[in-house]
Amino acid sequence: MLGPLQSIQVPMRRFQDHEELDYVIVGVGSAGGVLLQRLARAGFKVAGLEAGPFWDTERDWVSDEAGSHDLYWTEPRVTGGSDPLALGANNCGKGVGGGSVHWAAFTPRLHPSDFEVHTRDGVGADWPISYADILPYYEQLELEMPVAGPAYYPWGHPHGYAYGSHPMGGVGNALIKGCTALNIPVSIGGPVAILSGSHGDRPHCIYRGFCIQGCKVGAKASTLITHVPDALKNGAEIRDRSMVSRIELGKNGRVTGVHYLDTTGNEHFQRAKAVILSGYAIETPRLLLNSACPGHENGLANSSGTVGRYLMAQAGNVVLGRFEQPVRMYKAPPAHALTEEFYETDPRNDFARGFAIQTVGPLPVAFGKQMLAAKNAWGWGLRREMMDYNHWAAFGLLGEILPWEDNRVTLSEDKDRFGLRVAHVSFNLHDNDKKMIKAARRKTEEVMYAAGATEVVQEARYAHLVGACRMGSDPRSSVVDKFGRSHDIPNLFVCDGSVFPTQGSANPGLTIQSLAARTADYLISQGDRVFTSDERDMTSPPIRRELAPPDTWGKGVPRLK
Ligand SMILES: Cc1cc2nc3c(=O)[nH]c(=O)nc-3n(C[C@H](O)[C@H](O)[C@H](O)COP(=O)(O)OP(=O)(O)OC[C@H]3O[C@@H](n4cnc5c(N)ncnc54)[C@H](O)[C@@H]3O)c2cc1C
Ligand code: SF4
Repeated sequence: MLGPLQSIQVPMRRFQDHEELDYVIVGVGSAGGVLLQRLARAGFKVAGLEAGPFWDTERDWVSDEAGSHDLYWTEPRVTGGSDPLALGANNCGKGVGGGSVHWAAFTPRLHPSDFEVHTRDGVGADWPISYADILPYYEQLELEMPVAGPAYYPWGHPHGYAYGSHPMGGVGNALIKGCTALNIPVSIGGPVAILSGSHGDRPHCIYRGFCIQGCKVGAKASTLITHVPDALKNGAEIRDRSMVSRIELGKNGRVTGVHYLDTTGNEHFQRAKAVILSGYAIETPRLLLNSACPGHENGLANSSGTVGRYLMAQAGNVVLGRFEQPVRMYKAPPAHALTEEFYETDPRNDFARGFAIQTVGPLPVAFGKQMLAAKNAWGWGLRREMMDYNHWAAFGLLGEILPWEDNRVTLSEDKDRFGLRVAHVSFNLHDNDKKMIKAARRKTEEVMYAAGATEVVQEARYAHLVGACRMGSDPRSSVVDKFGRSHDIPNLFVCDGSVFPTQGSANPGLTIQSLAARTADYLISQGDRVFTSDERDMTSPPIRRELAPPDTWGKGVPRLK
């Protein structure tokens, strides 16, 4: 059934519910796909339960905006707070590959400063790990995806990419022109996890711009393409359309498996020696809260009261500029040029931390929505704007909103079609966030004008939800330790974007996958002890490059380490 890029020569292994697995992973997305691959290669009995379908890229995907909405998690959620987040389509993924299927694939690293924001700036939080801890995993995942980018990338910890940059589209050229006019350095052609040359059985990018629709071509990295095939070859099972409803806690204070519902609504129980949650920054805390049981009335792993708190989204305002000459922003991946010149705290600003400016290439339907939001265009007015599509360019600012306790996921009284309480997501901008967004918007508009735009408008929006089950050294103020193990329950782990204590102004996907590879190395180094012992070994594991998918390690050498 599967398309050529996904074909595997062996049938997928099938475990029985009554068989006790070593690991069950909830959600096979960005983090879950990498974890599944590593644990299977290391010889563990492991299955991923995924609420969405197992995509066949040939059969299921179309190069069409309106036809791609099934890629998103559109189950009901309730939104609230003083600055409510738009949830639903264009928010997070559903199906094998999760959000890595519809991401634009920008893959910048976090900066060293991101891991010590509280120490440096007195705001936010410090991570329990440093940049040095994640660096080998950044280098490794950049080869596994692989990431194309410039030979010299100047910001944060300067480095270079082994795979060459992409050519520029019209939006990238506009960003270069605007930045150059203002003397702002700009990165050209990446970093982006899209092939700039053919790689293994994957063809290079054909620059048609349907990346957010899944990339039927296979040039864009998603764990569905990069990690899942190797996981299956090595004996992992993926049970798709399986919605995990509750984690079961045994009498000894250890989890014993998960309850899940199949497509017909029948409930099953999958036994496992350890459980890993990789369901995204909303569904992971929701599942922990929905798993409340006697003795854990506030939800599992929640003795700190932190589950669901410190949810973050990045400010993602889109600034659109009209040019006399056609731009044709559909021609190229949306993600192909950016500047991180304003990323770090600048003492001249009246706010801490900063922002990035990136290319965005909305296709016509998204552009129409932006014109509606930015210019209140409707009816004939909207039609006129849309007929003018080829003359517009779009830049996105990506701004660091700080972690706040009152930005949180709780349970609504509303229930979904399975009878499970849905997530209530409350979001409020604080003073620092508002000042940062104002400055970032002003700078992005300045760049757009400097590029030659004659009219500039903007749509306020947010991007990339992370946090809500944050990692930390102190069990009183965090949910998991630095390896993703919950402080309260020794065989329950969280491994996805929800563990971020702060988010920087970098797109989160590379960091999420790098953390997943690190958590996998930790679990592998612990062997059976995770299943039997309550003791925590906090020694960092050796990196196991040999467990990466074949032909993705030892290839291409980062140009500047
Ligand atoms: C339009 C768009 C563009 C983006 N572009 C970029 C980009 O350019 N660069 C970047 O770094 N990031 C980008 N992102 C963000 C990125 O996609 C996410 O940050 C990332 O995929 C999150 O990874 P995750 O592992 O936390 O969750 P996901 O990848 O979302 O995986 C979670 C999986 O768990 C499943 N699941 C959830 N609950 C359950 C349950 N109860 N039972 C079973 N399964 C469950 C879901 O179906 C899903 O497949 C973009 C996001 C959007 C919406
Ligand atoms: S532009 Fe490139 S990466 Fe994007 S969908 Fe087309 S082939 Fe895939």
